[in-house]
Amino acid sequence: MIDRRTLLKAGLSAAPLAGMSFADAPSSDVNWQRKIRRVGQLNMTEHDPVALNVEEWADYWASLKVDAVLVSVTGILAFYQTKVPFHRKGKYLGERDFFGDCCAAARKRGIHAIARMSPDLNWEDATQAHPEWFRRDAQGNIARSGEDQRLFFTCMFTTYMTDYIPAIMREINSLYDVDGHFTNAWPPLGNLPVCYCEQCRQLPRPGTPAYWDKFNERVVYLWKLYDSIAKEKKPSSFYFANLGGGIHSGPNLKQLGELCEWFQCDNQGRGGDDTPIWGCSLQGRVCNAVQKGKMATNVTGAWSTGAVRWRNVHKSTEEAQMWMDETLASGMVPYYHLIGGENGMGEDRRGLEPGRQYFQWTARHDRHFVNKRSIASLGVVMGQRTHLFYTPPRGAAMSQYMDGMYYALLEGRFLFDFVHEDNLDDLKKYAALILPNTALLSDEQCRQLRAYADGGGSLLATFETSMYNERNERRADFGLADVFGIRKAGDVKGTTGNAFYARIERRHEILDGFAGTNWLPGAEFRLPVAPVDGAVLTVVPGFVAYPPELSYPTQPRTDEPAVVLREEGKSRLAYFPGDIERTMWRSGHTDLSRLLRNTIRWVSGGRAPVTIEGEGVIEAFAWETEPGFAVHVLNYTNPNMHRGWVRAFHSIGEQKVRMTLPPGRRVTRVELLKAETNIAFRATGGAVEFTIPKVVDYEVAAVSTA
Ligand SMILES: [Zn+2]
Repeated sequence: MIDRRTLLKAGLSAAPLAGMSFADAPSSDVNWQRKIRRVGQLNMTEHDPVALNVEEWADYWASLKVDAVLVSVTGILAFYQTKVPFHRKGKYLGERDFFGDCCAAARKRGIHAIARMSPDLNWEDATQAHPEWFRRDAQGNIARSGEDQRLFFTCMFTTYMTDYIPAIMREINSLYDVDGHFTNAWPPLGNLPVCYCEQCRQLPRPGTPAYWDKFNERVVYLWKLYDSIAKEKKPSSFYFANLGGGIHSGPNLKQLGELCEWFQCDNQGRGGDDTPIWGCSLQGRVCNAVQKGKMATNVTGAWSTGAVRWRNVHKSTEEAQMWMDETLASGMVPYYHLIGGENGMGEDRRGLEPGRQYFQWTARHDRHFVNKRSIASLGVVMGQRTHLFYTPPRGAAMSQYMDGMYYALLEGRFLFDFVHEDNLDDLKKYAALILPNTALLSDEQCRQLRAYADGGGSLLATFETSMYNERNERRADFGLADVFGIRKAGDVKGTTGNAFYARIERRHEILDGFAGTNWLPGAEFRLPVAPVDGAVLTVVPGFVAYPPELSYPTQPRTDEPAVVLREEGKSRLAYFPGDIERTMWRSGHTDLSRLLRNTIRWVSGGRAPVTIEGEGVIEAFAWETEPGFAVHVLNYTNPNMHRGWVRAFHSIGEQKVRMTLPPGRRVTRVELLKAETNIAFRATGGAVEFTIPKVVDYEVAAVSTA
């Protein structure tokens, strides 16, 4: 280990000054990361050592009041004078210490510098010297990058990760005083690796739960190894990695949540052709489910993310702004990201000012964005195993189940948390729990849900929930059969014409608002269950849609339930044999949305700690904070809610908020952080009421209490 004097003598840390007191926090202060409120990154290109003005770069981030910047070390291309074999220096680097210059410029301004590495690719010369480092296809060929044929994919089960990457980390430790080490592009975000190298051929078959166990073991092993190397330099240093991927995440997030000090979401913008606007909030819910109050950041790409990419031009400013709104609302720390010095700060400069304006606004209100806990009493189970291993019926996509349930929750203005499937041992916070086609549940998880219901908790589940164990083996009957009082009575049925219908057999709260019809839409797929007493809805099986001459039911009435409802003491239980949330998402049918919203309201017993009444589609969060509480309202009332980028905001009017207060808390002030004004409030019967006059894209009502 090299001490500070040696570093100074070597001219490697030319930055004493303002930053030192902050960056050199006492070693006992290991949790400095949790105090970070803003992060910046310009993703450096090979050209940047001659294209980027380092002082301008550092001034920009200082003007955004960021607490940390990520600076590229890389692993693919070195940005400093490395001696690690196969760590190729970029062709514009020359004799320069570009990494060191950037770190020094950041620290001079009191900004933490984090060393960023990419362990996923290397060059042909390395494939010849170390063929064992690389990923292989089924034929045994080394896997080549699809975008740049000169690069090859490395394999995470090889010595590349235990020799090469540690050598770079230790070299960085020996030359620089960085505050942390970060890997980009590892662990894999959404899909598990498929590799046929010598190491991987000894593992279980890729894409299976048995493989996932080995994958997670390796992730945890490498994470701990890298963290220990970071701490060889100083105890306050640490390691973290690119995570994100929403619910469809590669590594077991419950395990990583326990391990990681900083959950970094590489979730930079809407990804595909039809990604709804709430993708960032959904990510925040995932983090909150596993991080237990520890630091989580979400990257907003100022660049053009999406199905067609332009790394080096700015996206719509309104789209980027909504993504940052969601970051804050869902409890994460905003992280602004530009690509390449010549583009991010040169050819297209449109992203600079919006980022500055936004970050300066957040800096004025930091204390209201530090959350202690979410005050939602409704939980939605995020089944990682189901997302990774379950095969939906042909024509269905896994993401549709959560998309549909999420949209119904927004339309109903429900406040909710995600609950990780491995955290079902502690559900006392929740009045009700929703299981959107959570197909894979272990016997133990079923037992935990049964205990929750026995204790008065309520459940809403759909379709194949609990039909598989955690190894993705199909059960003969539901794992939760006794809890819901259901029994499987056939195989999954689809349709070739009309989907099935649901016949109203008797009135019930879940049917509020339906008048003038005996029939409701059922769902596209269903898992038939045995008849129950007093069914509220029964199945009218699907039939011909065309020709219309034949479009009538051959079997107009059955005793097959289309919903099974049950009340046991305080516990309310609802099971839909149809994939109604997915069918709602696919069809957009408003009856299905109403039926879902009514049923969610019924299982939650009409109790909600916060209600927000008004026009528009919103997403809401409520947090307990240091000064009191904060109610966040995101306005999604926009033609681009489901597709394309937000082009403009469309304001919504009055939103009437009522929030139940814990005993003994008195409200002293309600302040709107976007409007930057105080508003009137009324304390009444253990609650506070106030009206937000309008919401453009986002508003935060900060409730101070004594
Ligand atoms: Zn491999």
